[in-house]
Amino acid sequence: MNHQKLAQFDPIVAASIKHELNRQETGLEMIPSENFVSVAVLEALGSVLTNKYSEGYPGKRYYGGCEFIDEVEQLAIDRAKQLFGAEHVNVQPLSGAPANIAVYFALLKPGDTILGMDLSHGGHLTHGHPVTHMAKIFNFIRYKTNAEGKIDLDNLRAMALEHKPKMILVGYSAYSREIEYEKIKAIADEVGALTMADIAHIAGLIAGGQMNNPVPIFDVVTTTTHKTLRGPRGAIIMCKEKIAKEIDKSVFPGFQGGPHENNIAAKAIAFKEALEPAYKEYARQIKVNAKVLEKKFNDFGYKLMFGGTDNHLLLIDVTPKGLSGKEAQIALDKAGITVNKNMIPDDPRSPMDPSGIRLGTPALTTRGFKEAEMELVGNWINEAIENWKDDGKLAEIKNKVLELTKKFPLYPELQ
Ligand SMILES: *Cc1c(COP(=O)(O)O)cnc(C)c1O
Repeated sequence: MNHQKLAQFDPIVAASIKHELNRQETGLEMIPSENFVSVAVLEALGSVLTNKYSEGYPGKRYYGGCEFIDEVEQLAIDRAKQLFGAEHVNVQPLSGAPANIAVYFALLKPGDTILGMDLSHGGHLTHGHPVTHMAKIFNFIRYKTNAEGKIDLDNLRAMALEHKPKMILVGYSAYSREIEYEKIKAIADEVGALTMADIAHIAGLIAGGQMNNPVPIFDVVTTTTHKTLRGPRGAIIMCKEKIAKEIDKSVFPGFQGGPHENNIAAKAIAFKEALEPAYKEYARQIKVNAKVLEKKFNDFGYKLMFGGTDNHLLLIDVTPKGLSGKEAQIALDKAGITVNKNMIPDDPRSPMDPSGIRLGTPALTTRGFKEAEMELVGNWINEAIENWKDDGKLAEIKNKVLELTKKFPLYPELQ
């Protein structure tokens, strides 16, 4: 993986890749949807599997020459089934958004009602935000969290009884608490709705046995493979056997063309990694590290949304410190710490300059950070926010960040 040919043929692209590697090595990656894949995963992504067309499914392909592709895809399916206890798995979705669209079209008709979480309360764009195409096709209505930061189950049930949705959707991008799948399934059963969980963010914590698993309970579960799960960019759909045909037909030929088998091989490798005992320990440490930050930010006087965290992420209102989420993001960037600005529930500010920042521990935990390092990171984030106008101070923090990252090399093989 030394990119020799690439460096010779296209030094411009090679330089960009090298700079990005250096950026990842020398900064603190705290965007909670990001992670660092293993070199084995990178090798599969860069393999000759990218050359092959294989429309269809293992054993039922439109093209010849798929015998080895079939082995790889079947392996990915079998490992995902084992990892999550799924009856049926489709490993072809190209990413999280297309996976969700494939599910909507598999199980619903245009105009059907879907009950999903409000974006500012932690929901995802693909759960019916008005800017998405899906919002023009399906009728999305939105539930919220209550004042304690828990999903407001009474309100969710009242909305379900009033609107009679065809589907109830849980699983979030900025929500930091556990989800009570049984209770939501009971509400869905009461109104005859299908249940869908989008575990894109927390799949790794579920696979590692650190959070509730909706797969045995819900009709259909989607997840990206590149967030806590620590695989290649992509997604999978897991479902009950009774709806397996609809799901598969919706992914292909309903929505996508040929699958990306280099990517599917990389998914299979990531699932093998997640089945190992070391991964359980990784998932446990992600949560421990998030709890260290929770305590730090509480001690520093920040307002944690949803009252704290049960998973890998924190959503923090920074406005009491006299700046916006965007200003905090820019200051932290200057200090070598990458986070993202984020809306807080019912945010009075605009999406492009919201009140909060969202940050998480999956990538730093992959790097090997434990409690002691998270203490330092928490201190630096607070220092950067409190000194957000002081470029000298931010540069000082960046130097400390650099020194720490040198002790935790990320990809020594690629240097
Ligand atoms: C990230 C995310 C997605 C979208 O995944 P992409 O791979 O970016 O398309 C969908 N749903 C949730 C809850 C997510 O967090």
